[in-house]
Amino acid sequence: HLSPRLKAVADFVPLNARLADIGSDHAYLPVNLLLNDKISHAIVGEVAKGPLDNAHHELKKRHLLAHADVRLANGLAAINETDNVDTVTIAGMGGILISNILNAGKKQEKTFKTLVLQPNTDEQIVRRWLAAQDYQIIAETIVQEESHFYEIIAAVVGEQQQQLSDLDLIFGPYLRVEKTATFVAKWQKESERITLIFNQLKAAGKSDTDAYRQWQLRYNQIQAAIS
Ligand code: SAM
Repeated sequence: HLSPRLKAVADFVPLNARLADIGSDHAYLPVNLLLNDKISHAIVGEVAKGPLDNAHHELKKRHLLAHADVRLANGLAAINETDNVDTVTIAGMGGILISNILNAGKKQEKTFKTLVLQPNTDEQIVRRWLAAQDYQIIAETIVQEESHFYEIIAAVVGEQQQQLSDLDLIFGPYLRVEKTATFVAKWQKESERITLIFNQLKAAGKSDTDAYRQWQLRYNQIQAAIS
């Protein structure tokens, strides 16, 4: 049973994908996909020994070790050419780390048809990376778990049909059009945070500063996005 966040990632994995899950920790995602016969094999990558042991333990418990390769490696270095991986999932990390992992892979000429990414932060940086590297965002979703909001982005190789605007990069080209209740709730929460920042800057006599104007711009963009 997956959390709503990982369930949303799983839903974007194509049927019969040759999957690599990078930064897998307990390997809950590949375990679920294997148990549901959505995939027949997975590469499970981890940079740290503890999480790698977690992954191994979970796969063993579910009798899935024959269907997975658990590898201690930094990012996409876990994937070999002979694996024929076509889909990579990277979930539960900051957007900057995800972009760095993808960049390092790019330098090793590692390109994969489908990427399913779930940055915990800095979603904008991930979208910017995808657009710059000629990936096309094909679907997005946003889920809430307690007070946290998570965006999930699916992309395939191929140029973006339309160039992404700044608003697309910030809010998501699909998310900002779909404008679900969860999307609105996420950005309402961010508006409230910015309101506190306004108050602090005003109290400090800093309302006539570039920083204040930057926050003002962001606040206005958010209001327009959720109205
Ligand atoms: N993907 C799982 C999820 O979404 O629930 C686990 C997320 S966990 C918070 C992040 C994991 O990424 C950690 O286990 C960490 O060791 C791993 N990680 C961080 N940097 C990595 C890298 N460069 N390559 C592979 N794994 C990495």
